[in-house]
Amino acid sequence: MIKTDVLVIGAGPVGLFAVHQLGIIGLKAEVVDNLDKIGGQCIELYPDKPIYDIPAVPECTGETLTKSLLEQIKPFKTNFHLSERVQAISKEEGNWKITTSKNKIFIAPNVIIAGGVGSFEPRKFLIKDIEKFENKGVFYSIKDKNYFKNKKICIFGGGDSALDWAIELSKISEVVLVHRRNEFRGAEHSSETVKKLEKEGKLKIKTPFQINSIEGKDKISAITIKSEDGKIEKVVTDCVLGFFGLIMKLGPIAEWGLNLEKKTIPVNTGTFQTNKEGIFAIGDICTYPGKLKLILSGFHEGALAARACFKIAKPNATYRFEYTTTSTSMQERLGIKKSD
Ligand SMILES: Cc1cc2nc3c(=O)[nH]c(=O)nc-3n(C[C@H](O)[C@H](O)[C@H](O)COP(=O)(O)OP(=O)(O)OC[C@H]3O[C@@H](n4cnc5c(N)ncnc54)[C@H](O)[C@@H]3O)c2cc1C
Repeated sequence: MIKTDVLVIGAGPVGLFAVHQLGIIGLKAEVVDNLDKIGGQCIELYPDKPIYDIPAVPECTGETLTKSLLEQIKPFKTNFHLSERVQAISKEEGNWKITTSKNKIFIAPNVIIAGGVGSFEPRKFLIKDIEKFENKGVFYSIKDKNYFKNKKICIFGGGDSALDWAIELSKISEVVLVHRRNEFRGAEHSSETVKKLEKEGKLKIKTPFQINSIEGKDKISAITIKSEDGKIEKVVTDCVLGFFGLIMKLGPIAEWGLNLEKKTIPVNTGTFQTNKEGIFAIGDICTYPGKLKLILSGFHEGALAARACFKIAKPNATYRFEYTTTSTSMQERLGIKKSD
């Protein structure tokens, strides 16, 4: 059980800057994100693209912005709980009790939802019984490629992830690459490489095919694939990997009794509190008249939500407005050493 002043849901740019705003006023935060990396949309959707409207930063990429935000919160030594989705919430003795998909429990008087457009989740195979093999032969991401060494592997998909992993795993295992179209969507160079590897007998390509069924009791023994004209082929395999991109789901947050408006959460613009005391929403997930889904708006929202969290986390303390330029306590929290 982890106790903290604020649980921040979402490690996107807005969640990260909220950690800064909480840290400088002396509040401790823990951050949970469903992704296996920090940065939200900036890292998942456009790490290399330039952003031109971060105040006082004429140009940066999604990746450099994330790195700078992490650098800025380094003094607070924040714990990140990645690859975990927040599931349930309940009120317990004045605090919120939040449980994650890995059964971790957080106890906090405040929760800041910075969940963006929802948690990113892999698009999955849509055939009968496939869920019982999930993480036991059916995978949607690769954490340790050595697991796949010397195995028979079927990779599904036509984008960059499918092509890159087909190329990589063909060096250590027997790979069959299956795609529902004849043309691949991934980078031209990768597409040419898989075709070259097929000619050299280093991997097999099956197009236009889709998965049809899965066979096996406790582990996969084979699958069948079906072509556009209904032809069915059996493929003996140990593992099936699906790379069909990500979908964004509001997920369990939608069941928390919060007011919702078209998959966003209405907030009070003075505090960014939702209809539940101690639950705040900032960034792309919140809505109010005039809301702009921009990073700079999310930064402002985080600053106000942090001050509102202070009043709930420390009801007996007086909040004093201070500037980082002149506040010694803020500078101490930031680890800034005074020059004599
Ligand atoms: C291609 C593109 C270009 C863009 N360019 C710009 C630009 O130039 N300037 C600009 O200001 N904005 C830009 N944006 C928009 C900007 O990226 C978003 O406004 C910003 O990412 C919102 O930040 P956020 O932290 O609110 O949410 P996100 O970045 O979406 O992060 C939310 C995080 O919360 C996690 N999460 C959600 N639900 C859960 C849950 N239940 N449990 C655990 N984790 C959860 C998600 O996995 C995600 O990592 C662009 C967006 C795109 C797609």
